[in-house]
Amino acid sequence: MIHDARTCREIEATTDSDDRSTPSFDQPRIEAAVREILLAIGENPDREGLLDTPSRVARAYGEMFGGLDQSPAAHLARQFPQDGSDPVMVTDIPFTSMCEHHLLPFTGVAHIAYQPQHGRVVGLSKLARTVQILARRPQQQERLTQQVREAIEEHLDPAGVLVMLEATHSCMQIRGAKAHGASMKTRSVGGRWERDAATRREIQEMMVGK
Ligand SMILES: [Zn+2]
Repeated sequence: MIHDARTCREIEATTDSDDRSTPSFDQPRIEAAVREILLAIGENPDREGLLDTPSRVARAYGEMFGGLDQSPAAHLARQFPQDGSDPVMVTDIPFTSMCEHHLLPFTGVAHIAYQPQHGRVVGLSKLARTVQILARRPQQQERLTQQVREAIEEHLDPAGVLVMLEATHSCMQIRGAKAHGASMKTRSVGGRWERDAATRREIQEMMVGK
């Protein structure tokens, strides 16, 4: 069973709207810090174009880091019975995260496959929610990939699971090596797919071949 993430986005738009900032999120403090940054680069934070920038950046951070006080648990706990143990695959789940080294965004897509073994699966939008909640924090792509895999293992205990992320990092594109267009692929495998190279290869080919 392969599903395009577009379906997830549609489902999500109607069922999930719990985006919010973390309770510890201190908007005035971020505004003050952004004003400091503007001063430190030699800008005038009081000129017209920059007047609202600190509050705009603070609101954007509220969104980008909104996953810090959220857990995928509530989403992944909503399971339903399904016969058989054929692998479930969802590809092209879009996400945006913030690289914790530079606080610059990295964006891409996640592909998830798992093989149920207890006759229970989760709704496809819940996998998308899981990726997005774990992405909206200071992150490293490798860790995000592992955390998605771990969340699925914890809540579904699948026979096998494979998570792949493809993303472009703005910190790579706009500074340092200026590697425009370079994308980073990460993978995390669990369960029996870790040892079963043939199935793993088949799943991966389905993922990238689409
Ligand atoms: Zn970075």
